[in-house]
Order: sequence, then C-alpha cells, then structure tokens
Amino acid sequence: MSIVRMNVADFAAVQAPSVEAARPLYDRYVVPSYARSLSVTRGSGSWLWAEDGRRYLDLGGGVAVNCLGHAHPRIGQALQQQAALLVHASNLYHHAPQGELARKIVNLTGPGKVFFCNSGAEANETLIKLARRAGHDRGRFEVITALNSFHGRTFAGISATGQQKVKDSFEPLLPGFVHVPYNDLAAVEAAITPRTAAVLIEGIQGEGGIHPATPDYLLGLRALADKHRILLLWDGVQCGCFRTGRFHSYQTLLADVPGAAAFLPDGIAMAKSLGGGFPIGAAWIAEPYQDVFQPGTHGSTFGGTPLACAVALAVLDEIESKGLDRNVVAMGGRLADGLRALMPEKPLITGVRGMAGMVGLIVREDAPGACVRLREAGLLTVPAGGNALRFLLPYTVTADEIDEALRLVRGAL
Ligand SMILES: *Cc1c(COP(=O)(O)O)cnc(C)c1O
Repeated sequence: MSIVRMNVADFAAVQAPSVEAARPLYDRYVVPSYARSLSVTRGSGSWLWAEDGRRYLDLGGGVAVNCLGHAHPRIGQALQQQAALLVHASNLYHHAPQGELARKIVNLTGPGKVFFCNSGAEANETLIKLARRAGHDRGRFEVITALNSFHGRTFAGISATGQQKVKDSFEPLLPGFVHVPYNDLAAVEAAITPRTAAVLIEGIQGEGGIHPATPDYLLGLRALADKHRILLLWDGVQCGCFRTGRFHSYQTLLADVPGAAAFLPDGIAMAKSLGGGFPIGAAWIAEPYQDVFQPGTHGSTFGGTPLACAVALAVLDEIESKGLDRNVVAMGGRLADGLRALMPEKPLITGVRGMAGMVGLIVREDAPGACVRLREAGLLTVPAGGNALRFLLPYTVTADEIDEALRLVRGAL
C-alpha cells in the first residue's frame, strides 16, 4: 500500500466514496444513547451534506460548537501546523499554546487563571470541585443550581442539572445539590444555608429552551455571594465564546446596566465553541481562588494539549480579527426579527427568545416534531425544552443564508 500525502485542500476536495452506509453500522455497533437522524458526509460553511447527496442549511451549528461553520480553513491550518510540531506532551510540561490560550482567556475575562479540560461537563466538574475545596474548611459543600438547567452528563453534571429526566435511573446521585427556580433571586436567598458553597447558573439556559438571566438576577446573585462568602459559578458552555457577541454572555446581558461594569463570576465553565469543533474545555477561576488547586488536587490527561490550544487560539483570533462577533449579533437579530415577523401568519409560532447566535423559536406543537419538519425542508435546528427550536448560528453565517432559513421556516411550519 502506498502512502499518499495530501494537503488540507486536497482532503476537502475528495468525496470519500461511501463504502458502506453509516446507518446500519450504528444500528449494529454503536450504543444507542442518541436519537440520530441524517447520515452526513461533509460540510462547508453553514452547509452540511448527507449521504444521499442532499444539502442542508445547518443552523444548529453542531449544538453550539461550529462557530466558524464547517471545514473552516483556519481550523484546518492550525491543526496541520501544530500537528507537525507537537500534538500531545502531557501536563508534566509547559508549552506555549496552553500558556498563550490561558492568557487570552484571562484578558477576555478578568484577573484569574485557567484550568484546561476536554468538555463542558468536565469544566463544570472543575468548578464544583473548586467550590467544594474552597468551602471545605468552613463545612460548606452544597451547590445551588437552577431548575430547568443543564450542566452535563457526568455524575456531578447530572446531579447539578435541574431536570429530572437526566437523573432518572442513575440514583443515588452525588449529594449536595439544591435546585431553585431560575431568575428568582429570593429563591436563591432562601436556599442559602451554612452548608452552601456556591451558586451555579447558565447565563442563558440552552437545553432548557433559551431563557436569558435578567440583569437584576445577576447583580443580586453577585451581592448574595459576596454577603455569604460563597462562589458565584457561571456555566458559559453554550452561551459563551462570543455566541452573544461578547466573549461571555454576562458581558452582553449586563452591557449598559448601571453599576454592572465590574461584575465577574468566581468561576466560568467554557467548552463547545471554544475549539470550533475540536474538543476543548476550560474553567476560568477568579483571582481569589486561582491557586486553590495545587499539584495533585485536580487534573486531566488530555486537558489543554498543544493541538487543542492552538486550534482554540486560531478560532478566537479568527472571530476577533474578522469581526465575526459583530456578524453573529447582526445575523441573529435578522433571524429573530424575521421569525417574529412570521408570527401573525403562523399561529404555530408562539414566541421568539434569545439573542445573537442563540435564538429560540417557540412552537405550539412538540419541538422534535417541528424540528423534523424543518429538516425535511432542508433546515437543521436543535430541539430544546419548553417547545423551543434552537438556532445556534455559526458566527460566519450570511444574510442570504438567514433569509433562506426564514423562507424554509415559512414553508415548513
Ligand atoms: C453542552 C452543555 C454542557 C455539557 O457539555 P459537554 O461538552 O457535552 O460535556 C454543560 N453545560 C451547558 C450549559 C451545555 O450547554
């Protein structure tokens, strides 16, 4: 067998012949823990191709991951260049990409340090372990989270998540979690006890159906956390990494709110769009807690590899240097306005929520059913709780593509 060397462009041009259809392989060999639909073969920008050759407008964005769309050349280039130098070396050593990405995240956030991992669930695990360790000597271990939240599928993740359906049949869960209604400051205050170590919330509930936190709630949580000397933890896995136009969604939610300029959580979980499709997770930890994890107290074999960090640096640079943060705000606004304009003629649509790259279309029927109808029309979205269909836009999406999506919604619903 001869070894053929190809560059990234050659790979993209190759239409890998489908030796076998994917679906039967899944039916036979893959654990059926997901409800899957299409068999896909390749993507480009906002478009995804299925095995049967049909092209779909992908505004589900790989569930808030593909912030540069599919097959972005900048990601291919970063992968190729870094892979030729060093893919993995372990966290026994220093390397420039991890140090530079940590500095970048701190500069975009505030004084503190960063721990690297590989997923959103692991980033939340890191924050929960941080709260346990920081509160340990004062007997504080409980974490208050919101009903309808989603924090990942690990044991701490499902224990933290405020939805019964992710916990069913996995009991006993990790102890020490209390759930209260979202955007209800009085409920958080009432739940704080001498055992409370932290409050953990999403800036915009994603899986729960696109519910943004209100400014009063955020400022009130910060004041409560300060008063009781507990941590305010932020799950920015879905709403972060410029999805709302600013790096973190609180920067968007609190823009122009008097007295909010200094708002900072004590810990922030990131993943999804951070690597634009390459797996990476990160937990930013505020200065007062930045040295809580000493050698041997927390770790991850793959956390912050040179390859993952080089890709994330390229993704962030592409977003900032090309103004994609501004583009996603404009395109999300165009989409939300267009969807709202459809409401008078489409009684099936009962609401539009969210902002920028995170828009929820609320429908009268069950969301998975509406999602199937849009897919059959050629538009990919992601169902969520509360009869919501999520548009998790690639930040590279164009006005023509938004208008095409609106035409498809109009025809299908
Ligand atoms: C997706 C998600 C997670 C879990 O991330 P994984 O990478 O799947 O572990 C956690 N929190 C929120 C808000 C998410 O949207």
